Order: sequence, then structure tokens, then C-alpha cells
Amino acid sequence: MSVHVDGKEIARHLNDSIREKVSALSVSAGRPPRLVSLCVGHNEEAQIYVKMQEKAAEKVGIAFERRVLDAGLCEKELLGEIDSLNADTSVTAVIVQKPLPFGIEHDRVVEALHPEKDAEGLHPYNLGRIFRREADIVPCTPGAVMRILREHHVELYGKEVVLVGHSAIVGKPLSMMMLNESATTTVCHIGTAEKGDIISHSRKADILVVAVGRPWMVTGDWVKRGAVVIDVGINKQDGAIVGDVLFPEVEKKASLITPVPGGVGPITVSILMRNVLRAYRSQNVGA
Ligand code: NAP
Repeated sequence: MSVHVDGKEIARHLNDSIREKVSALSVSAGRPPRLVSLCVGHNEEAQIYVKMQEKAAEKVGIAFERRVLDAGLCEKELLGEIDSLNADTSVTAVIVQKPLPFGIEHDRVVEALHPEKDAEGLHPYNLGRIFRREADIVPCTPGAVMRILREHHVELYGKEVVLVGHSAIVGKPLSMMMLNESATTTVCHIGTAEKGDIISHSRKADILVVAVGRPWMVTGDWVKRGAVVIDVGINKQDGAIVGDVLFPEVEKKASLITPVPGGVGPITVSILMRNVLRAYRSQNVGA
């Protein structure tokens, strides 16, 4: 029987430590850090995430501001908004919510942010720092996966890590973070699924991380007995939230497994808050 990761509990501990540090820094800097959430137009799903972020910010003592911009905004106008947020010294960090209207590139908007105000750790400068093992502000979901492994004392040195999914926000940065820990890292993706033998890769994994967005794609036969299985997937299936891993089958083989919901998700929001704290720290050196 496997150990189930309690993402809420890990997030609670992390939030406690963030709150302490935010509180101490707020005294020396004279004000709390401030996170601005930028939405263009109204989107129900995005609002759920914004609400979660707002609650997490409240828990750790970060001031949170929701800004909803006109749905008809063009990219140039949004970039102008980013310029003024960059120049506003009362703003610690910014999160640009998805989706953005057609014609506005999320990557270009994030690239326009000052790297020190990049709450999600997706600015090319912050991503590049992972290559140099100098990462401070990190992409939130990869940061959450690494946190889980650390909390559960999962050794990475020399271990076979298989990542399924190579998106710019999860699989790619996570693969570099795993390499930085000297794990033997294999990254699988649609090409592996269509033209390779994806199951032969996943079966070798000591640590298997799945971030695809396909409900229950990973079944028991994908998993080596005793493997650590981290399910990043969040999928809606018949009104319920399910992962990319068929939990009831895989938990019988895994030594450690994340449930969905309640695994990676809650920690991802805490890492967002940790990024704001780190941004605040670097903006207030000596305060
Ligand atoms: P994404 O950008 O759509 O990327 C999915 C990745 O899976 C791509 O690299 C894709 O390859 C690959 N892929 C697609 N079909 C595949 C298959 N049959 N076999 C192997 N690989 C396949 O998605 P994402 O943003 O990374 O998110 C992935 C999942 O994680 C989603 O369910 C999302 O909701 C969830 N998520 C959760 C959190 C959290 O905090 N828990 C955060 C972010 C995302 P190609 O690009 O080559 O097609």
C-alpha cells in the first residue's frame, strides 16, 4: 500500500513559514508585499484560480489586488499596463491570468514584466536561471513537485526520473530542475506516445511525474512496483476533478503517490506566494 501525499498539509507548513518571513520583512520594509492579478475580460474558470490565489495571499499576509481590464484591450495596451506595473514601486509582483483574448500572446506579456516581478516564474530570465542552478523565483508547479519530493525525503541523485509531458510551464522546467539534482531524466511527450514506446520508459521510472491533461491515462501497467508517482493533471470528468493517473490501480504499486485533488495543486499556490516573498526580498535588500 502506498503513502498518499497530503498536499494541503505540506501547503499549510509552507504557508506558515512564508507568513513568518513576510511578517518580518513587512516590518523592516514598512509595508506588506503586494501581488497584482491581471485579468483581461471575465472568465469563470480563471476566477476560481484568482479566488484561490487571493485566499492564499490573505493567509500569508500578502496584499492582493484583482485588476480586471476591458475584454477589448489590445496587446499594445496590455503591454502599457505592464510597463506601469513595472514602474510602480508599491507593486511587488504580477500574475497575468489566462486565458488572454485572441491576438494577445501570454509569453510576450510575461516577457514584458520585470523578472523580479514575475510571480509565476515564467519570465525567460527566471527560466534561464534554472539552467545555471541559480533559480530563486521558479515556475510554480515544478516548484511544488520538487517540494513534495523534498518533504518526503525522496532522493533524486542517480535515480530514474520519467516526466510525461514537456510543456513550458511544467515538464520542461521540471526536467532541468531534476537534472540539477543529478537524476537520470527522461522526458516523454506526444512524439513518444505516437511513435515511441512510452510505457517502456515509464516502467523504468523510480519517480514518475505525469503532466499531460488526459484523465486516467497512466494505468497500473505503466508503473514499476515501489515507484514514486506524482500526478500533476487536473481534468474534469463527469463533474469531478480527476488526475492523469488511474489512482486506484496505481496506488497499489506505488510507494508514494499524489491524489487529485489535494496533491500537487494546493502546493502550487503556496509556491506562487513563495515567489512573491522572494521577489519582495530581492526588492528590499537591506530593508
Ligand atoms: P499542456 O501545455 O497541454 O501540455 C501537455 C503535455 O503533454 C505536452 O507536452 C504534450 O506534448 C504532452 N502530451 C499530450 N498528449 C500526450 C500523450 N498522449 N502522451 C504523452 N504526452 C502527451 O498542459 P500543461 O499546462 O502542462 O498541463 C498538464 C496537466 O496538468 C493539465 O491537466 C493541467 O490542468 C494540469 N496542471 C496542473 C497544475 C497544478 O498545479 N496541479 C498546474 C498546471 C497544469 P506536445 O506538446 O508535444 O503535444
